[in-house]
Amino acid sequence: MTRYDAIIVGAGQAGPPLAGRLTDAGMQVALIERKLVGGTCVNTGCMPTKTLVASAYAAHLARRRDLGIVVSEVGVDMAAVAARAHQVTINARTNGETWLAGLKGLTLVRGHARLTGPTSLVVDGVEISAPRIFLNVGGRAAVPDMPGVRDVPYLDNTDIVAVDSLPRHLVVVGGSYIGLEFAQMYARFGATVTVVERAERLVPREDPEISAAIQAILEEEGISVRTSATCIGFRAHPDGVAVSVDCTSGDPDVVGSHVLLAVGRRPNTDDLGLDATGVAVDQRGYIIVDDRLATNVPGIWALGDCNGRGAFTHTAYNDFEIVAANLLDGGDRTLSQRIPGYALFIDPPLGRAGMTETEARAKGYDVLVSTRPMTRVGRAVEKGETKGMMKVIADRATRRILGAAILGTGGDEAIHGILDAMSADEPFDTLRWAVPVHPTVSELIPTLLLGLEPKGG
Ligand SMILES: Cc1cc2nc3c(=O)[nH]c(=O)nc-3n(C[C@H](O)[C@H](O)[C@H](O)COP(=O)(O)OP(=O)(O)OC[C@H]3O[C@@H](n4cnc5c(N)ncnc54)[C@H](O)[C@@H]3O)c2cc1C
Repeated sequence: MTRYDAIIVGAGQAGPPLAGRLTDAGMQVALIERKLVGGTCVNTGCMPTKTLVASAYAAHLARRRDLGIVVSEVGVDMAAVAARAHQVTINARTNGETWLAGLKGLTLVRGHARLTGPTSLVVDGVEISAPRIFLNVGGRAAVPDMPGVRDVPYLDNTDIVAVDSLPRHLVVVGGSYIGLEFAQMYARFGATVTVVERAERLVPREDPEISAAIQAILEEEGISVRTSATCIGFRAHPDGVAVSVDCTSGDPDVVGSHVLLAVGRRPNTDDLGLDATGVAVDQRGYIIVDDRLATNVPGIWALGDCNGRGAFTHTAYNDFEIVAANLLDGGDRTLSQRIPGYALFIDPPLGRAGMTETEARAKGYDVLVSTRPMTRVGRAVEKGETKGMMKVIADRATRRILGAAILGTGGDEAIHGILDAMSADEPFDTLRWAVPVHPTVSELIPTLLLGLEPKGG
């Protein structure tokens, strides 16, 4: 059995930087990857999708007539669009592999790792061990147990990034973050698109007015939205796949040429051999960790999507930062110090920080609220991109911002002003006196904060 100082399973978003820090500290480290270096984000997630979103935005801009630019015919070369996304991915993966190859003390092992005990695992029949094991195994698309789903062809988020032709009619099952990005981009590429969502509204984790504004943005681009789809099922149809929707209104079936299943993700923990270690998982298979990412078994940590404490690249990377700071730098960093932030990359994007109003009220805060439409943002007017709104909520007692949503052009960037103030634990009064650059989306933030008041007040 080969012994290392540390073993990392999964070369996603936390594993490689952790390998860098551990080898820098003089350790002999094995990093095990069963598929592609870079994991989901680089190969099938953030990078290819945001590259596709950029192509879709270009197609959308080219079709606009209000900017005074005349383009006689807008065509979308899907093969070229897909090739560009593929190349961006390959470049990032190759850079990652090159960087790992240069780490002194690192052995990159290709293969599937299965734990055999609290300090050992087997890869392709070879057993290795270490006193420290870091699990960064990520997740994969969940396939729900919906009637007929096994009898029809469908795409998941991995398959669809490789598609290089235009579906005639794409039915996106799942009206949340991943599904909506694909819905809008495919509509902009020229496909007919229907979004089917089981809940009463899109992105049901957001506040109702944000969900409604997102739905309006998508519908204005011709996307059909079927919410309250209470018994989704699938059957083969001469024109593709019939998706039964059973909405309270509208046709009971939607017939699409292609179906994208975007109904959530599940952790890659079912085939990891966790039973041999006694590492505890929750009822959905996520590895249970404490505030410092340690599992219940001493010497085993879980980082990234597989611990269910984040579902983003930046949360996986932050998990690495917490573990590295605590183990190598004598730090005292914890998960609970992290302020949630994320974006939904439709156009205009939704930038989010902290809690929603619904969450804050459920937690018993005395909430102050302020909203402004994007029509109030000069820069949005100048760009002709005034769809959406800004919203901020704060705690009346402590004058701290509890959360914010910026659904509008540049919202994915502008949200950082608020995230930074929350991270610095500053009262909102500090931002009221900021002098933002004109003309930017961020310049409305002080005005937005001036409007904070009790709801209906
Ligand atoms: C379509 C899509 C778009 C997304 N867009 C964004 C975005 O814009 N912004 C954002 O922040 N996040 C986005 N995400 C989420 C983001 O990709 C993930 O949160 C992130 O990749 C999680 O990183 P991770 O390191 O936890 O896991 P992963 O990146 O999934 O890496 C885990 C790695 O472990 C390997 N592995 C698993 N089991 C084993 C085993 N037993 N042995 C060996 N290797 C194993 C896997 O092959 C994989 O390479 C998106 C996700 C999807 C699906």
